[in-house]
Amino acid sequence: MSSLVDLGKRYWLPIYKPRELVLDHGMGARVWDTEQRDYVDFGAGIAVNALGHQDPDLLAALTTQAGKLWHSSNVFYTEPPLRLAQELVTASGFAERVFLCNSGAEANEAAIKLVRKWATAQGRSPEQRVIVTFRGSFHGRTLATVTATAQPKYQEGYEPLPGGFRYLDFNDVAALETAFAAGDVAAVMLEPVQGEGGVLPAAPGFLKRVRELCDTHGALLVLDEIQSGMGRTGTLFAHVQDGVTPDIVTLAKALGCGFPIGAMLAGPKVAQIMQFGAHGTTFGGNPMAAAVARVALRKLASTELLAHVQRQSAKLREALALLGTELGVFSEVRGRGLMLGAVLAEPYRGKAGEILDFAAAHGLLVLQAGPDVLRFVPPLNITDEELVDGLARLRVALNAFVGR
Ligand SMILES: *Cc1c(COP(=O)(O)O)cnc(C)c1O
Repeated sequence: MSSLVDLGKRYWLPIYKPRELVLDHGMGARVWDTEQRDYVDFGAGIAVNALGHQDPDLLAALTTQAGKLWHSSNVFYTEPPLRLAQELVTASGFAERVFLCNSGAEANEAAIKLVRKWATAQGRSPEQRVIVTFRGSFHGRTLATVTATAQPKYQEGYEPLPGGFRYLDFNDVAALETAFAAGDVAAVMLEPVQGEGGVLPAAPGFLKRVRELCDTHGALLVLDEIQSGMGRTGTLFAHVQDGVTPDIVTLAKALGCGFPIGAMLAGPKVAQIMQFGAHGTTFGGNPMAAAVARVALRKLASTELLAHVQRQSAKLREALALLGTELGVFSEVRGRGLMLGAVLAEPYRGKAGEILDFAAAHGLLVLQAGPDVLRFVPPLNITDEELVDGLARLRVALNAFVGR
């Protein structure tokens, strides 16, 4: 194993700092490393493997399509992306058309371009095409999406950044009203639950107010549901819980449950804005990814699965709160569904990375959302037994961390 790790240290661009273990295979909410040690997976990759590992239906969809056709370009039709687009439109309840791509950043990049094309069609000058985003957000790593991402740590050194973005504090209605008063806002883009920024949900009523302001000022509402979507928060889309209808929604992460695919869903105001030649992608909507995503969508949208998410959410939330009280490690447990964040108590601020090391050493894979928050985004079909086992490992790991 250590010789494999050495390859990463020698040959990869050193942009990641992976824990020193090499994962080999998985089953359900468990994975095994190359030394046969097992881990409970409370991270699902990064909120990606929503049906765990080796889901038999996903595996069947992938292997069946692999035996037929891998790629055809977008110059010809194939069946899986046609069906997937129709199924996403139906499931969304608002979208009319879909653009398929390969990742979250690409879906958001398409959304940003669509906002600008729409604003152009509205006769707005380039200065009047401002997209408002929120501090703590995460929208991707391409130059435009990292600019939309209102966190300096992701942007530093990449200047000049593209213009046309304005940053506000999340959940700050007054600031948003002021921003709109300038008359140059074309869209507001946000995550219903900020993921990377600390598992911070939109305050009750915030999205409704954003929607109202967008309507009053003729702006679009773009929701980045790349992490919060596909059942993660207990409904297929998180925004349903906020009672709003967006104009654009982006998806990726769990859409392919581990197979790379992204999507941008476009509502009636924008579905016809991009015409022939306006945008494109070589791999987007390829039949392998689409075949898998069709099965993922069917299973993740099912009432049984979504009810399971709500049940497991209540258990996980309660267990984390209990652990927090008992060990004094958490000051707050927040989030929705199976997208939960445990905020580290004052003495342990900044130590999320260190806790993750202890967790891995005790057979638990979990994530952080910044230095102060542990992020729990397990497979949505996690069983009681896997949940209990994972929590037992977390308890041991936290005890070891506190007594270090
Ligand atoms: C992960 C993520 C992205 C970026 O997705 P990639 O597939 O890594 O490009 C964008 N927005 C949100 C909310 C995400 O969680």
